[in-house]
Amino acid sequence: MTEAAPALPGHRLKLYGLSKRYGPHRALHDVTLEVAPGEFLTLLGPSGSGKTTVLMALAGFVEPSDGEIYLDGRPISALPPDRRDFGVVFQGYALFPHLSVAANVAFPLEVRGLGRADIRAKVAAALDLVRLGAFADRKPRALSGGQQQRVALARALVFEPKLLLLDEPMGALDRQLKSELQGELRRLHRRLGTTFVNVTHDQEEAMALSDRIAVMRGGEIVEVGTPAELYARPRTRFVASFLGRSNFLEGVVGAVRGGVANVEVGGRTIRHATPEPVAPGACVTLALRPERIELGPRDGLDNVLTGRLLDAVQTGPGLDLAVEVGLPEPLEVRIPPTASPCRPRGGDRARLGRRRDRRGHRGRQRLAPRT
Ligand code: ADP
Ligand code: MG
Repeated sequence: MTEAAPALPGHRLKLYGLSKRYGPHRALHDVTLEVAPGEFLTLLGPSGSGKTTVLMALAGFVEPSDGEIYLDGRPISALPPDRRDFGVVFQGYALFPHLSVAANVAFPLEVRGLGRADIRAKVAAALDLVRLGAFADRKPRALSGGQQQRVALARALVFEPKLLLLDEPMGALDRQLKSELQGELRRLHRRLGTTFVNVTHDQEEAMALSDRIAVMRGGEIVEVGTPAELYARPRTRFVASFLGRSNFLEGVVGAVRGGVANVEVGGRTIRHATPEPVAPGACVTLALRPERIELGPRDGLDNVLTGRLLDAVQTGPGLDLAVEVGLPEPLEVRIPPTASPCRPRGGDRARLGRRRDRRGHRGRQRLAPRT
């Protein structure tokens, strides 16, 4: 089946200097963010970081203390929620339990006073969109959690909203249903072309779904970028540890030559590419992704460290190793599946390094000022 071109032009969203205070408590502070038409943007952050507050301000349920929200360049703060025409999906399904699936999806159209025939056609189309056409007459309790969330999606999309806002829509689903609903969301987004703003604390979900991610902490946006950018070049230690895993090594910059710095870490020297200039003597934190460290012996390794394997744990197809190399913390190393019967074991001696690729580029691990 080929997919139709996007049905609706996406709308442009801009949050400017958005703040929200509850008495002395600062739930949001100076949140500024632009979302391009048709973009899938995810607000990612730990619990309490202000994600829901942003979404509720967008939906019009929370009044910002400061700042403005613009849709296609026009301020919308004065508009009540029902005049914004945004679709909203929450974690709790919030379906009407006594109404059928079709009646649930029809609800926003009835509120808008559409005629019966029109409603029937739009409900059928929305249920087809989430592949629940055959379930129109069921009650929500006769559906799985994933199906209920698809009904909630159909209800949020049936009136062709200007934005779709999703607050932890997969929070209550098990792993399998989560990944199915993620696929569904990606498909819907491609097909509709609507601007999506999603909220989650789940980095894998954010990476899998989003065109861009805005990482939040303590009511502020700390970094914004594509999943690949944030993963490969996090600018803060917080993002390096929240998106994937990292080993952090505190060090002092020694000689710098040709974009490569010698960093003294616990009496050893690690050579490291520096995308931004660093001065000798600067205190820095190296962030090393576990999957970019290799286990030797092998030619062409850079930054070789030797030590002792403390632990090897099978995780899905690969192995997670903890290696004592004489630094304050053991290094975390993730190696791909090995065909060799001689799996590494706790107690083994280990030689670690980073593979030098043919261009002599030394990986994209990042040297960040220590914060
Ligand atoms: P998240 O969705 O990222 O978990 P929230 O946006 O729900 O975070 O909350 C951000 C902060 O604002 C939290 O510290 C929360 O306790 C606080 N907060 C949210 N809503 C209210 C409220 N109605 N009254 C007081 N504090 C609130
Ligand atoms: Mg929340």
